Amino acid sequence: MAKPLIVCRDLSIIYNKGKSNEFKALQGVNTDIFEGEYIILFGPSGCGKSTLMYSIQGSLPPGEGTLLIKGDDIYSYPPSERVYFQRYVMGIIFQSFNLIGSLSVLDNVALPMIFCNVDKTTRNRRAQSLLDRFGVGHVAHKIPAMLSGGQQQRVSVARSMVNDPKILLADEPTGNLDSVSTQQVMDKIDEINTFDRRTIIMVSHNAAHLSYAHRVYYLKDGLIVREVVNPQRKQIKPVKEGETIVTELEQLARLFPYDSVDTLRVKSMVNYLTQDYSFDQIVRMEHAVSLFIRGRLDRESFIKSLVLPFERGGVEVSEAEAKRMTAVTERMMHHADDIRRFRSRKDNANIFFNQHKLAERMRDHLIGLFRIKLNKEQDANLVEVIADRVTGVIDAGEMNQRLMAGVRSSGLGLSEKEADEMSRYFEKVVAQGVDVNYKA
Ligand code: ADP
Repeated sequence: MAKPLIVCRDLSIIYNKGKSNEFKALQGVNTDIFEGEYIILFGPSGCGKSTLMYSIQGSLPPGEGTLLIKGDDIYSYPPSERVYFQRYVMGIIFQSFNLIGSLSVLDNVALPMIFCNVDKTTRNRRAQSLLDRFGVGHVAHKIPAMLSGGQQQRVSVARSMVNDPKILLADEPTGNLDSVSTQQVMDKIDEINTFDRRTIIMVSHNAAHLSYAHRVYYLKDGLIVREVVNPQRKQIKPVKEGETIVTELEQLARLFPYDSVDTLRVKSMVNYLTQDYSFDQIVRMEHAVSLFIRGRLDRESFIKSLVLPFERGGVEVSEAEAKRMTAVTERMMHHADDIRRFRSRKDNANIFFNQHKLAERMRDHLIGLFRIKLNKEQDANLVEVIADRVTGVIDAGEMNQRLMAGVRSSGLGLSEKEADEMSRYFEKVVAQGVDVNYKA
């Protein structure tokens, strides 16, 4: 895996060190920013966003901790190398544009190249082509004051790209712009990230910008209090659990790791349409049921864990509901045992007799549970259907058909509703009592 481009470890920045007005603006910040990422530093005014950005830019040396760019401590560079770094590795855009009022737009953009010994023709050609790219080529010969705020900011975007920097820093670049200009500038910066594949670090306190970034560092009082991954963008930095905007899909992806996102969306929707419980409650319930059916939890403790409020680790269902759930679970476990016995006795000499008895018991259970009256023939047919299903001679759909089929075709003649309810319930019992042979 690639190493991060920018690493901050326990980075603190102290203003006016040793003076009476000493102030610690960053108090131990940790970041890992990867090449090609779009990072937003977000937070209220005064939380330290600009301080962090200018520290990365090479203007504010760490008071404590380390800051490495491509593995280098830029603050240990000799002055000439630091200048090279700031000129060729970093581009920067300011909230207040910082254009020189007495120079034409073209000269403003060409200016940084003067210090890099680029000849005038090349400078002007490159400046003009960048101005064209950012939609302000037609005002190249005007002075900045004749341009709108949005145009001026697009000129400074062009200027920031003139030496083809690896990292683009932007300090609230749309803070002084109307909504239309904001959109244009944000789209251009986005293009520099997605098309030119430059790393972007932007200071912003506009929540509408967050969707552009791969990740957002939330700062408060000189600390990163939260790091949030944007699930809308394909991530460059490996994502740890809990770092994304935690949605139900993430939770489902953990439960069903091999399902596609589309399938997970369907599960989420179907859950809403069919169930009264949240996935959080279901996960708790699964845990409790798992302990109960493995005999690690007795009846009373199971009921208790279902009834307990959510904050205290419970599922938070009503007592009546918890008792109903417990009764259903116990009943299913009991009959699943019959199914297990039915299937495991195949080597025994009494095989037929025992199986028949077990199937009869399951039949009586179903009749009792669904309160249906059957005649002798139907009774016998149900035993057959149960045996066929438990041995796998028929599948769930065929069992359902047999329950509805007429008595003469070895069926029971149940209504569709009765057949559906019975076969649905019986499938649950079968699932409890029959192992899956390809899973340990
Ligand atoms: P933000 O960009 O989040 O608005 P800054 O990084 O600009 O915050 O500032 C963080 C804190 O450091 C603020 O309390 C600010 O007053 C203080 N600060 C910023 N620059 C200086 C400075 N040059 N000297 C002293 N304190 C400063």
